[in-house]
Amino acid sequence: MTQSPRPVVIAGNWKMYKTIAESVDFIKALVPLVQESPSQVLLAVPFTAIKSAVDEAKGSRITIGAQNMNDASDGAFTGEIAARMLIDVGAEFVILGHSERRHLFKESNTFINRKVKRALSEGLKVILCVGETLDQLDQGKTHEVLKEQLLESLAEVSMEQMKSVTLAYEPVWAVGSDCPATPLQAQEAHHFCRDCIAKAWNPEVAEHLVIQYGGSVKPDNAKELMAQKDIDGLLVGGASLSAETFSKIVNYQD
Ligand code: PEP
Repeated sequence: MTQSPRPVVIAGNWKMYKTIAESVDFIKALVPLVQESPSQVLLAVPFTAIKSAVDEAKGSRITIGAQNMNDASDGAFTGEIAARMLIDVGAEFVILGHSERRHLFKESNTFINRKVKRALSEGLKVILCVGETLDQLDQGKTHEVLKEQLLESLAEVSMEQMKSVTLAYEPVWAVGSDCPATPLQAQEAHHFCRDCIAKAWNPEVAEHLVIQYGGSVKPDNAKELMAQKDIDGLLVGGASLSAETFSKIVNYQD
């Protein structure tokens, strides 16, 4: 089998869970459990816990990031947070376009695109989430939706900047539902996304793009998902809240 040119990247998305103390305890527990793993380990933690998480994760394999940000550099936007503030507390990446942001907070591709460009220009890496709803799946619109989300959310992102982008295919119907996509279903969508990127940028950009699968990933389905050719990593919500469970996903090869 030919070696993939892409690293394995396993990320946890804690959503609106964990205080500072809980975050620090989690990282203390996780560090020894993932020490030997060849995978890159990312944790997207609540804003309030970023600084402490970064300090606790120092010297380990774990990289800390955020779950959202505003598109402006600064300004009168009460309650919002800017890329440079995330960098200031040590975040290295940000998740953008998560389905909970798209659907609960009505974020459009245009808005997400402005955030993507802001994050990249300020020096944050981006995990961009894309995925179809159940209705769109049933109507056979998956490819159409993925293409639109990809091209609109990544509009005007340069080939150089694409090196700092990871994609996460997260079918909305699979997120938090205990109903994951089958490995073949996910592989098909990942292959389609990679092909879109190859056409819109070039085959080399596509070949090096890490595409994670997200949606009800658990220790018992991680290995089978990761065996697919175009699945390079996993974005894990619920199962990333326990250090022991998340470590089993990170160590899926064991
Ligand atoms: C997510 O929040 O990105 C996610 C995939 O959630 P879950 O793993 O709980 O489905």
